Amino acid sequence: MTTVPANASAAVAPAPGPSLAGSSAFPDAVPARTPGALAQPGRRILLAAPRGYCAGVDRAVDAVEKALAHYGAPIYVRKEIVHNKFVVETLTERGAIFVDETDEVPVGARVVFSAHGVSPAVHAQAAARDLSTIDATCPLVTKVHKEAVRFAGEDFDILLIGHDGHEEVEGTQGEAPEHIQVVNSPDEVDRVVVRDPEKVIWLSQTTLSVDETMETVRRLRERFPALQDPPSDDICYATQNRQVAVKRLAPGTDVVIVVGSANSSNSVRLVEVALESGAGAAYRVDTAAEIDPAWVDGAMTVGVTSGASVPEILVRDVITRLGELGIGEVEEVRTATEDIMFSLPKNLRADLKRAGAQPDRPHRGRRTALTVEPV
Ligand code: SF4
Repeated sequence: MTTVPANASAAVAPAPGPSLAGSSAFPDAVPARTPGALAQPGRRILLAAPRGYCAGVDRAVDAVEKALAHYGAPIYVRKEIVHNKFVVETLTERGAIFVDETDEVPVGARVVFSAHGVSPAVHAQAAARDLSTIDATCPLVTKVHKEAVRFAGEDFDILLIGHDGHEEVEGTQGEAPEHIQVVNSPDEVDRVVVRDPEKVIWLSQTTLSVDETMETVRRLRERFPALQDPPSDDICYATQNRQVAVKRLAPGTDVVIVVGSANSSNSVRLVEVALESGAGAAYRVDTAAEIDPAWVDGAMTVGVTSGASVPEILVRDVITRLGELGIGEVEEVRTATEDIMFSLPKNLRADLKRAGAQPDRPHRGRRTALTVEPV
């Protein structure tokens, strides 16, 4: 655990607002130290690390920002670029237009595909409308798509563990709909029907609860002993690291507050993981304004974390709000450091390069290493 230095507040510059022309609207922000005058002795915040932005989200948001700066508004975005209300609202203010389907995009216009990925059918629809596309699908989602294509090509039945209706699941399933069936939870295992029990593999959505997924796999294997594992983990590093951090801090907390939107799968999972790991209570909020003071009334230790699509500025606001409610000390609970980064989508990079613009910037979502200390 690392205690935030007592003078940390002095070093915290006011975060720029979301209207910064020509620079990111989602700056890194050091969590603010809560106002000392309001802090009550012994009450503390355990702040999870890693938390917030992952490399895939950082890249997707950066792609929209860069596209707006380079091509000019409007830039169309199919679905929410990442599942975070604040991010979507801020990009909307800057000229992005979010649509549900490509047929809402004017013929010949430019559209960004979200980090969650799209099916081949969506690519075909975009081509039919002569759209210029920027594919911000997270490379770790693309990896799962490729696995689906490969194993469908080998005529496997693919059991995709994930949530029906989630954009990522729709995109992956669309790669080989005739070979893929979705398994939502361990309770659905008994309903699975396969053609050949000797030729079955499971894949998964990237943002699931690791523990629940392993339970689903365990039950699937009871039914299909020859079930094959994916070639590598489908639940991504960011999802896993954020869950491990919450598991570490939750047992010592009266309540855990998870910053993230309701449609953010990994944020919702963090609430579940906190409860399963011993938190007295756990709540998800989009912003600090949603914190009900009654949640922390009498709480001595409050855990704070955020989903992979959440800019740090929202976490800072939550810490400030908790300070106003008398919880002043901030201790970081770090279980991993991350250093993973993804380049911008290829065609956007090429356009920026041709124009002499610098495609890369120091990504605030780049964190170091993937090592996980023992919990
Ligand atoms: S949560 Fe994982 S899969 Fe999703 S965008 Fe982030 S790194 Fe990629």
